[in-house]
Amino acid sequence: MRVKKYAESATVGQLLAEGGETKQPTNKPAVVRFANVGKWYYDSRKKEKIDVLIDFNFEIEADDAGQFVVLLGPSGCGKSTILALISGLISPDEGEVLLNGNPINGPADDSATVPQAYTCFPWLTVLKNVEFGLALQGINKRERNEIAMEYLAKVGLADRFDSYPKQLSGGMQQRVAIARTLATKPAIVLMDEPFGALDAQTRSEMQQMLIELWEEEKNTIIFVTHDITEAVLLGDRVVVFPSRPIRDHQVHERRDLDEVLGHARPPEVARKHEFTELAEEFRLKLREAFPASYR
Ligand code: ADP
Ligand code: MG
Repeated sequence: MRVKKYAESATVGQLLAEGGETKQPTNKPAVVRFANVGKWYYDSRKKEKIDVLIDFNFEIEADDAGQFVVLLGPSGCGKSTILALISGLISPDEGEVLLNGNPINGPADDSATVPQAYTCFPWLTVLKNVEFGLALQGINKRERNEIAMEYLAKVGLADRFDSYPKQLSGGMQQRVAIARTLATKPAIVLMDEPFGALDAQTRSEMQQMLIELWEEEKNTIIFVTHDITEAVLLGDRVVVFPSRPIRDHQVHERRDLDEVLGHARPPEVARKHEFTELAEEFRLKLREAFPASYR
């Protein structure tokens, strides 16, 4: 389900100021909201403060639940920090992060993360890996087995249920991680460069699989990548972070990718000139701030 949105490119700040002029106002709280968020780390070796977010505002409105949102920026710009704030693993130093209108207090059931690379438990079988999160939710043994097998089938690994992770390729292990995350049916799925460690062919297969799964499951996905092509291929909405620290008036975004590129995104869509134009637009934005990362 790619949700139709207005065709316009603007900063998050402008969008918030304009209040989304072509949309009906809704009283429902935003799926995710960053309100004037400041986040910094302290580098104890250099004895200095590292600002990651400064007065950052960002929202996925209630109407946009079920959207595929991509956060695009180079390594070190703060993407993982944003996901960690949403998942409740870390807290903001200033401002608030809210899920469905509620401030986040520690890890919540509303969101689940697919991490960067293979994080299956090596001592558990594929099936037990997927059952793990369901057990934490208190689901009984028979039901967890059923749900886990259903999700293994969705990622094409039903016949490997009794294998151990080390017997699987990197791509297959990442499929297990995706099955494990989706099986718990989180409203929001956070994906932190989940295909970054895979070869090009496997990555392309995984991207297509993810699109299919998302269309069935209808979760809101927040997908982090530094890869422009991946961002354009997957996103309904792409948020570009062309600065570090991230300040919201410097964020550039497009919310109309499904209108420009169409609903279906087979690999061939990358040959469309609209695709190339979007990629070029993002590359130029990123290059302004990060000439070494984006040529
Ligand atoms: P990204 O995911 O975009 O690569 P991160 O959110 O991981 O970026 O990091 C943003 C910045 O904050 C980087 O400069 C990183 O070195 C720094 N950073 C991240 N985590 C910590 C930490 N725990 N302590 C100190 N600095 C950190
Ligand atoms: Mg990261």
